Amino acid sequence: MSSSSNDELLQLRGVGVKFREQLNELGIHYTHDLLLHLPYRYEDRTRLTEIGSLTPGMRVLVNGKIEYANVVFGRRRSLIVVLNDGTGLIYLRFFYFNQAQQQAYKAGGHLRCFGEVRAGYKGLEMVHPSCQRISSRQMHRIEQQTLTPVYPSSSSIKQHRWLQLTDQALKLLNEDQLQLRELLPEAIRKQFRLPVLQAALQVLHRPPVDADLQAILERRHPAQRRVILEELMAHHLAMKRLNLQLQKLAAPVQTNQRLWLQMLQQLPFQLTAAQRRVIKEISADLARSKPMLRLLQGDVGSGKTLVAAAAAAVALASALQVAIVAPTELLAEQHLHTMQQLFQPLGVPVVWLTGRITGKKRAAALAQIAAGQCLVIGTHALMQEAVQFHQLGLVIVDEQHRFGVGQRLALRDKGSGDQLRPHQLIMTATPIPRTLAMTAYAGLAVSIIDELPPGRKPVTTVVISSDRRDQVMQRLAEACASGRQAYWVCTIIEESEQLIAQAAEQTTESLRQALPGLSIDMVHGRLKSADKERIMQRFRDGLVQLLVATTVIEVGVDVPNASLMVIDNAERLGLAQLHQLRGRVGRGSEASSCVLLYQAPLGEMARARLQTMRASNDGFYIAEQDLQLRGAGEVLGTRQTGIQQLRIADLSKDHGLLDQAIALADAINEKAPRAETALIQRWIGDAASYGEV
Ligand code: ADP
Ligand code: MG
Repeated sequence: MSSSSNDELLQLRGVGVKFREQLNELGIHYTHDLLLHLPYRYEDRTRLTEIGSLTPGMRVLVNGKIEYANVVFGRRRSLIVVLNDGTGLIYLRFFYFNQAQQQAYKAGGHLRCFGEVRAGYKGLEMVHPSCQRISSRQMHRIEQQTLTPVYPSSSSIKQHRWLQLTDQALKLLNEDQLQLRELLPEAIRKQFRLPVLQAALQVLHRPPVDADLQAILERRHPAQRRVILEELMAHHLAMKRLNLQLQKLAAPVQTNQRLWLQMLQQLPFQLTAAQRRVIKEISADLARSKPMLRLLQGDVGSGKTLVAAAAAAVALASALQVAIVAPTELLAEQHLHTMQQLFQPLGVPVVWLTGRITGKKRAAALAQIAAGQCLVIGTHALMQEAVQFHQLGLVIVDEQHRFGVGQRLALRDKGSGDQLRPHQLIMTATPIPRTLAMTAYAGLAVSIIDELPPGRKPVTTVVISSDRRDQVMQRLAEACASGRQAYWVCTIIEESEQLIAQAAEQTTESLRQALPGLSIDMVHGRLKSADKERIMQRFRDGLVQLLVATTVIEVGVDVPNASLMVIDNAERLGLAQLHQLRGRVGRGSEASSCVLLYQAPLGEMARARLQTMRASNDGFYIAEQDLQLRGAGEVLGTRQTGIQQLRIADLSKDHGLLDQAIALADAINEKAPRAETALIQRWIGDAASYGEV
């Protein structure tokens, strides 16, 4: 980001350096970004409602004369104001108020207020309405012509500031001073029935009184459709461009099957037909001189790791290096363990590199990576500038949806000096609906493992209230006594690693007390790598019967003898996460079960999620349900498409528009290719520079 363009916001009235920082945190870096930050609801402050006609639940504008105003000391100190407009009385109640308010709200004066009407002790009331002092002459004259927007915000930015800012930005928009010029040719707008951008933004920020609010709330207003489509299109264009540029680069041709055939002979099982098919698809890509960009998708437990090993074996046999990158240390360790078993017998050195490897060990690892043929496994530390590969031929990224696009691109740039770029294989267990994949990963080839290894038994899932926790623990103890192993997964609302670790420690302690005969241990993110690895090894060896874990075990952990899982406070987790977690059991020949313990009372959404889990083991079905269920009541900052940062579009709600967005992108590409760069810049901003390889 160039600092001068970021200065743009400082030109606005009321924006200083500190406020700019708060805006930056919400992704607002330029003035035009303000107008791409849309309200999430609107209030009608254009009409006055008579106090005498109010009923609880209404959100309305009223005005009246102050009959009474006083600070009262009840259970809480509060400022009470009684307003009368000649048709009735309403109480205004303020728990937080300042000196100025107290002085301004004096009996005899006039106030105009907007708020929600509730039934109070003494009659109807409004708690913390927004108020404006008016003169008696203004009593029935309303200047407000448009609906009042309410913006998603952080706690530090008040609504009136958003109004001030967007007022200024809209003025600049009308003077054509912002980076929001109409970029779609009229013919294309007509073809897709799209309003002009400026008009669309004007409507969304300041809807006229007669606007179809219902349509806006349901995301089907033409003005919304206009901006959502433009954003989705911009992402599609950016991904396409990225992939096109990738295609212009050269990659090392890799065809040597020697190591793979050797490995295949040592496997204790046959490949599934699906594994054979995708290995063929990947091998064909590796044999080409263009960089592969392929998404490998397969449900939890479908055997993606072995497919990755096959690809790695081909690259390594061709005297190239391979990097396997995982999002968490635990998952990286799991890969290290599996890959060592597969590759060390073949004489391939396996190098371990994470952010925690420091000092001499790090220097040694870096030297080995710079020197020659090896398989490097690690976390995103691998993507840092300082890591220089000798001849990187293939990058395998696991669980891509946890990485930002930027990180993926950084790794791509780790090509060798002679301009050859590595092939890329991205593995994910999260099924991505097809149209969505086309937008978010435009141009990516997709391989799907649609078959589980034979003999897998579906996991039986039960949903149990934590009132019956003791019973669950008893059953757990019996199962472990008969030789089974189990996970106990702790969840916690707070995101702090420290609190999560504490919760795991407490749970472990109480389980140890309740089940003294059992060998219990725990893993969480704050343990040292060596300790984590030691405990996991003891669990794999059957020395630990019950493993208490945080959601760090969510991805990748593979202990086939573990056939029982209890997820504590399962109602806190999303469907994708629950499915991932449950995928840790049901990997062996034993029938497995999963207990979802919940804390009553269950909300509607949580109930629907747990029911979905009980009903199905199918990742595709669960992902679809997830898409349907999500979306209600989102708060800024918690939006998680898992794929890319979208500002306005929301894939859980707008996936119906994806086909049109792709058609629109094609139309632009064909008829107005010069608009592409500006569109990408507008929506994706500086991330768009990734288009320049
Ligand atoms: P995921 O797709 O979730 O990464 P893994 O690659 O971890 O799945 O495989 C899950 C388990 O299945 C591992 O224990 C692995 O050794 C085993 N496995 C993989 N392929 C086969 C197969 N064709 N037949 C039997 N077991 C297999
Ligand atoms: Mg895996």
